[in-house]
Amino acid sequence: MPSTTEVLLLGPGPSPVSRDTLAAMSQPLLGHLDPEFLAVMDRVQTDLRRLFCTENPFTLPVSGTGSAGMEICLANLVEPGDRVVIGIHGVFGGRMKNLVERLGGEVVEVTAPFGEPLDADAMIAAVRGGPTRLVAFVHAETSTGVLIDPAPIAAAAREVGALCVLDCVTSLGGTRVDIDGWGVDAAFSGTQKCLSVPPGLSPVTFSDRALERIAARERQPSTWYLDVGLLSGYWGDERVYHHTAPVSMIFALQSGLQQLHEEGDEARFERHRHVAAALYRGLEVLGLGCLVPAAWRTPMLTTVALPSDLQNEAGLRAAIRSEHRIEIGGGLGPLKGRVWRIGLMGHGARESSVTRVLVAIGEVLAGSGRDVDVASALAAATG
Ligand SMILES: *Cc1c(COP(=O)(O)O)cnc(C)c1O
Repeated sequence: MPSTTEVLLLGPGPSPVSRDTLAAMSQPLLGHLDPEFLAVMDRVQTDLRRLFCTENPFTLPVSGTGSAGMEICLANLVEPGDRVVIGIHGVFGGRMKNLVERLGGEVVEVTAPFGEPLDADAMIAAVRGGPTRLVAFVHAETSTGVLIDPAPIAAAAREVGALCVLDCVTSLGGTRVDIDGWGVDAAFSGTQKCLSVPPGLSPVTFSDRALERIAARERQPSTWYLDVGLLSGYWGDERVYHHTAPVSMIFALQSGLQQLHEEGDEARFERHRHVAAALYRGLEVLGLGCLVPAAWRTPMLTTVALPSDLQNEAGLRAAIRSEHRIEIGGGLGPLKGRVWRIGLMGHGARESSVTRVLVAIGEVLAGSGRDVDVASALAAATG
């Protein structure tokens, strides 16, 4: 794991990448239609289906980051004039709204204050409140640190014949994602969060219901690169050239998924919960609370509520980076200047990360004149 000269990535992503995965990326290339590479593609698809808990044949890594996954879902499933209910409980819900507007959809927005989960009843009322074609929202909001239960909202969508799209960028690989069990029709993730693979691929899955909706479109999707039908031609049985797959990134993803498989999905999720709980205990002793109440927190991303009298939070973060070689994130949108975001994702989710970040925070706080007891914080975290 990271030596002291590396930067320990404990922000909202990218997360630390293992030596094995870095080595996988530096293997000699194969052709993107080479039979050995096709076998790697099959393996990646099988592992992604297991992780998404789905049998969807259309499950694959899109070339592009998490936002490309968002775009493939919405650009293929939204038609002009569609009524689309968007849940916004952070920055990424807002990004989905912007995309749907560009696609000519009619957005019905349900919002929650940053730091609170979406209200399922309000979402369900909005879904039932008109001829809804699609509902989209974020499972784990990386901008706020809130995790929500998608099941009741997905069920309401199904009742009225609407499709449900879920942003699993931060959740996949860090907590259970149950696409078929929840009845979600399309979902997307990203490689650089809890999968601990560099940024560059977006695992996505589409249900048969979603594919039928695409087949029945009046006009083909306006995107060529992210056209689900064309991508099926390459990743499905036909193996026709569409675009040149990013071969080295797919090697990296195969490696990341292999490590996840060896650890075991449940063990991996438990590890994320365990280290997050240690972080909460240590922060409390340092006099720092969490923005989000315990019941709503997502373990992979903690928003630390900064004391209102804390001066120059950006300077303190810069000191954590330069003196301790640790990256943590600042607040986004309305939380700018009010929170720090600590990601314990994938390979970063370990006790040594918690210890290092508590020492770093404790020392910069002490340096700014606050009275903190770092040793007690470490004891609380590890005890
Ligand atoms: C990071 C993130 C995205 C965007 O992914 P990029 O890889 O930055 O394009 C979308 N949604 C959520 C919840 C995220 O955390």
